[in-house]
Amino acid sequence: MSGGSTSGGSTESVPSFRELGLSAASLKALAHVKYETPSLIQAAFIPQALSGRDCIGQARTGTGKTASFCLPILEKIDSDHSAVQALVLTPTRELSAQVAAECEKLAYTRPVKLACCVGGKLINRQIEEIRRGAQIVIGTPGRVIDLQTRGVLVLNDLKIIVLDEADRMLDIGFRPDIEKILRRCPTERQTLLLSATLPGPVERLAQRYMQNPLRVDVSQNQVAVETVDQYYITVDRDRKLTTLARLLYEERPRQAIVFCRTKRGADSLHNRLSRRLPHVAAIHGDLAQNVRDRVMKQFRDGTVRLLIATDVVGRGIDVTGVSHIINYDVPEDCDDYVHRIGRTGRLSGEAGFAFTFITPEEGDQLTNIEIRINKLLPQYQFTDFEPVRSRPARPPASAVIPPSPPSSVVTSFAVEEDDWAIL
Ligand code: AMP
Repeated sequence: MSGGSTSGGSTESVPSFRELGLSAASLKALAHVKYETPSLIQAAFIPQALSGRDCIGQARTGTGKTASFCLPILEKIDSDHSAVQALVLTPTRELSAQVAAECEKLAYTRPVKLACCVGGKLINRQIEEIRRGAQIVIGTPGRVIDLQTRGVLVLNDLKIIVLDEADRMLDIGFRPDIEKILRRCPTERQTLLLSATLPGPVERLAQRYMQNPLRVDVSQNQVAVETVDQYYITVDRDRKLTTLARLLYEERPRQAIVFCRTKRGADSLHNRLSRRLPHVAAIHGDLAQNVRDRVMKQFRDGTVRLLIATDVVGRGIDVTGVSHIINYDVPEDCDDYVHRIGRTGRLSGEAGFAFTFITPEEGDQLTNIEIRINKLLPQYQFTDFEPVRSRPARPPASAVIPPSPPSSVVTSFAVEEDDWAIL
C-alpha cells in the first residue's frame, strides 16, 4: 500500500471548520452543536475525506473522530435518493449507538434518514427503517450481514463505507464478516478506516480493500504536547493561591512559568508570592521593555526561578530548561494552552510537567483543551501533605533532567529542599 500521508497542519494554527471545506449546512449544524474549533483529527481528516480519497485516520474515542467521518458522509449523501449511500461498521452496539447519535446531531440541517442496525435489538424495526429509505446505516458487522442476507440491506448505491475502530473489530474476530461486507460493496466507493492503532492485520485489511489510501497522521503534531506530563487540578477560586503553594512545594520545579489570564492577576499573584519567595518575577505587556528584558535575562540565568506571565508575553518566552508550566488560570483559547505548555519539555530528553487549575465552573474549558490536544488529562493527586517534606512526589526535577542546556545553568538551579516552602 503506497498512498500518501499528511501531518494535517501544525498545532500552531488550527484551521476553522469553514476552512476545512465544509458546506454551509454543515457549518450551521456545527454551530448548533456548539463545536467551535475542529479537533486535531477533524482538522486533518475532514479535508482529505472530502476530497473523495480513501483515508486511514489514527485516532481513538474521545478525540472527535466520529465527526471526522460523519461530516464527510453527510456532505456526500443525496437526501432525495432513498437508498443506502453510507455504511459505518463499528465493533460494538454501544459504539454504533454513539455514532448514530453524533451523526443525527450533525445532520440537524439535512433531511437524511439513519438506521442503527445492531445485534440484540429487534431486527424488524431495523428492517422497517431501511425500507423507509435510510440513507446512512450504522451497525455491527454481524447484523449488517444478516440484513444483507435477507435482501433488505442493498448496497448497490453505496458511496462511502467507514470501518470505525478497525483494530477492535479485528480483535473481536470480525475480519471474515468485514471482508464479506466489503466484497459486496460497489468497487467505486470511498473507504475510510479509523483505528487507534495500526497493527499488521489492520494494515493488511487496508492493503487489500482500500485504494491508495492517504494516511492522516496527527501524531507528529502532538510531539511537543506529548513530551509534557500534563495534569489538571480541580480547585475552588479562593483556594488557588494555597493550591499553588502546595503544588510548588510538592513538585519543587527547577524553573516554572505560572500563567495568568490578566496583567492585573499576574501582578497580584506576584505581590503575594514575592513576599515569601526571593526568586519570583512577573512579566506582562504593561511593563517597560527594559524591565521585561531584565526579567527575561534573570529567568535565563536562573536568578528567577518562578516567572508569572500572561499569554501575550508568555508566547515569546523561549527559554530552555523550564521544568514546569502552571496554568493558574485556564487559558480561554485552546491554542494558548498548546503555546503555554510548549514552553517546556521541548528539547529531546527533557522532562516537562504542566498543571492546569480548573475551577468547578470551568469543566467545559478542560473538555475543549482535551479535544484540542487529542488527549484526556489525568487529575493530579496531591500526596498527603504532612509527610511531603521528607517524601517528594517525584525525584526533584534537577535529578531527572539530563545536563543540557549548559551544565553551568543546571547546577546553578540545584534544588534546595526549602526553596518552595511558602506555606
Ligand atoms: P468522539 O471521539 O467522536 O467520541 O467525540 C468525543 C466527544 O467530543 C463527543 O461527545 C463529541 O460530541 C465531542 N466533540 C467532537 N468534536 C468536537 C469539537 N470539535 N468541539 C467540541 N466537542 C466535540
